[in-house]
Order: sequence, then structure tokens, then C-alpha cells
Amino acid sequence: MKKLDIQLADRIKDLPPYLFAAIDKMKQEAIQAGKDIINLGVGDPDMPTPAPIIQALQKAAANPKNHQYPSYVGMLSFREAVARWYKKRFNATLDPATEVLSLIGSKEGVAHLPMALINPGDTALMTDPGYPVYQAGTLFAGGKSVFVPLKIENGFLPDLDAIPGAVAAEAKLFFLNYPGNPTAAVANRAFFEKLVAFAHRHNIVICHDAAYSEIYYDGKPPIGFMEVDGAKEVGIELHSLSKTYNMTGWRIGFAVGNSNVVGALGKVKTNIDSGIFQAIQEAGITALEMDDAPLKVIRNIYQERRDALVSGLQRLGFKVDPPQAAFYVWIPNPPGLTSAEISAKLLKETAIVTTPGSGFGQGGEGYFRMTLCVSKERLEEAIDRMEKVGIHG
Ligand SMILES: *Cc1c(COP(=O)(O)O)cnc(C)c1O
Repeated sequence: MKKLDIQLADRIKDLPPYLFAAIDKMKQEAIQAGKDIINLGVGDPDMPTPAPIIQALQKAAANPKNHQYPSYVGMLSFREAVARWYKKRFNATLDPATEVLSLIGSKEGVAHLPMALINPGDTALMTDPGYPVYQAGTLFAGGKSVFVPLKIENGFLPDLDAIPGAVAAEAKLFFLNYPGNPTAAVANRAFFEKLVAFAHRHNIVICHDAAYSEIYYDGKPPIGFMEVDGAKEVGIELHSLSKTYNMTGWRIGFAVGNSNVVGALGKVKTNIDSGIFQAIQEAGITALEMDDAPLKVIRNIYQERRDALVSGLQRLGFKVDPPQAAFYVWIPNPPGLTSAEISAKLLKETAIVTTPGSGFGQGGEGYFRMTLCVSKERLEEAIDRMEKVGIHG
């Protein structure tokens, strides 16, 4: 019989290669060659989920009531816990019934939001560099991605005044992310206030991705978007238990804010997924209600790693400042090398996996990213290896 001629949809053909898949392939080759890899590529916490959360899951998993389909929008008790956490952490008031939606991780919310807001041909703004899923989700909805550059001289915050009027007039949605991946930049109140005014002026929905709000250093919690007056009128904030509680494998996050946007995203999801396993939501409540002590321990460990890596890089001549939040260090390339070249060189000569900045968009060229998701000793080992082969800034 003649073989079927399977033609993939344009949305798959048009997709840029998923960044971490390319890195994984290079890494697998190095592992097969027997090298001792130090993986500073993917941002995935290496520490375990705190014990009380695991115990809550074990207990909830044994309850037959949790074995059936969960509610689409998430258990009200989980959404209430989210609202209480938001009040405590950001002093923002949310209606758990209409302004909170549970997500199968914030990535899921990012990927589906454009389906709720973007018609074919509509424009979504997103930062460059930025998390690649903003572009993929927009593409899946048939929308057009317009990239807003992030520059070091602006603290990696977008210059809203530099966005051409015609572009702002066309845009329907704007994805931003602070503390930022990959830049680790932190936003401030003045910027968020300007963003709310910008959104009002141009009728643009803001989607602020706050996956790293709880990974911060020197005892200084970053500001949340919902802390700013008017934020709820213009958009939503996405959150996740993944990075905060070392729960990347559990798949639980949430969207909060504007009830029209939250409701529309919920409508999309009702037609795609059937919610989060209730036992995981029960464990999520335990996480959100836990006292801060285990998180302080986690933050201190990242902070020690940050200090070890940043001081080592500085010793090698790289111009890096210690990040104030997130578990990334965003490093200018050595002179004369592109992002892809320095990442390939590091992998080949030192078996260190990093992420080339260009994988986060053209605006990431000139930088490469290291994560703090390995032990301090391994980070020191990475610096030693770089020193031995003469890689410096
Ligand atoms: C890790 C990450 C996410 C996804 O987190 P999940 O909740 O695990 O899906 C979303 N946004 C950014 C910027 C991230 O780095």
C-alpha cells in the first residue's frame, strides 16, 4: 500500500525549534561520549519538594473522592488559598470565585491565553529576550508576535515610550515576566504603574508571568503586578508552585486578576483539559499555607550558589552583577563570540551545559545563561574548568 503523505499543520512547521530540545541533544551527545556534564542549562530546581507538601499529597491521594474528574476551574478551596496567599504576600484582594483560575502549570496558561484573546492576524507583544512559549502560544492562535527589546541600559525593562504608536494601537496582548527569565531582572513599582497606564492608553491586556516571584535574595521580595493600582483592570498575573516549592513535576499553577480574562482563559481550558488532580490541589493548599521557614532555607541555598558563581565569573573577567531574584545568571559573551559559539565551546571544552541567549530571541544575542540548579560545589567546579581551559570574559 502507498504510504500516507502526512502534511503537518503550518503552525507546527512555523514553530522555532524548542530551545531546550536542541540543548538536550547536544547534552546527550556529550553524555554518550562519557563526559561528566555540569548542567547549567535548564531551570529546574534540584532540591526536593518540602516534606509537608508530599505528605499532604499522600493523604489526599488515598481519598477516593479525589479520584474522579476535578472541577474545571479548580477546587474552590484551592482558589481560596490562592486568594489568601495573594493578600498576605502582595496585599491584593481577589475574588476566588471569579478572579482566580487554577492551571496545569503557568506554561499551560501562557500557551492557552492567546486562544482566548487573539484572533488570526492579531498582534501580541512580548519581550525579547523572553520565555519562548509566549511566541508559540501566539503562533498557535494564528497571531503575530511583535518583540519589544530588553536592554541592559534600561535594567532589562522594556522602554514603553519607544514602542511605535502604530504597533501599540494594533496590539491586543502583552506578555512580560519579572523577576525575569532569562535576564533575572526585577521590576519596580514605577515601571508597573507606567505599564498599567500604557495598557489603558492602548487597550492592551497585560499578562504578567510571575513564576519567580518567591525566588529572591538578600531578604528583598520583588513587587507583584497586582500590588499596583489598576492592574486588575488591565490584566492578569500567572503564578506557579513549580519554582517556589520545587514542584516542577507536579504541574500546578494559577492565573489571577481581571475576571473577564480569567473567565475567557477558563473557557478555553474547559474545552481542552479537565483540571488538576484534586490530590495535587490539596497539596497545593498545604504549600500556600505553609510558613516561610522551608522557603527561607531554599532561598539561602540559592543565594550561596549565586554568590559562588557570580564571584567566580567576576574573577574570570565576566561583567556580571549578582541577580536579585530568579535562579539565573545572565552573562555577557566573551569578546568575539556569539551566544551559540560560547555555549558550544563551554560544552565541548568543559562539559558545562549553558543556554545561548539567542535561544530566547534575537535580543538575547550577546549573552548566555547559567542556572543555579546544581550544588555550590559543582558551580565552583564549573569555574575551575573554565579557568583551566582559559575561558574568560
Ligand atoms: C518555568 C517557567 C514557567 C513555567 O512554569 P510551570 O508553572 O512549571 O509551567 C513559566 N514562565 C517562566 C518565565 C518560566 O521560567
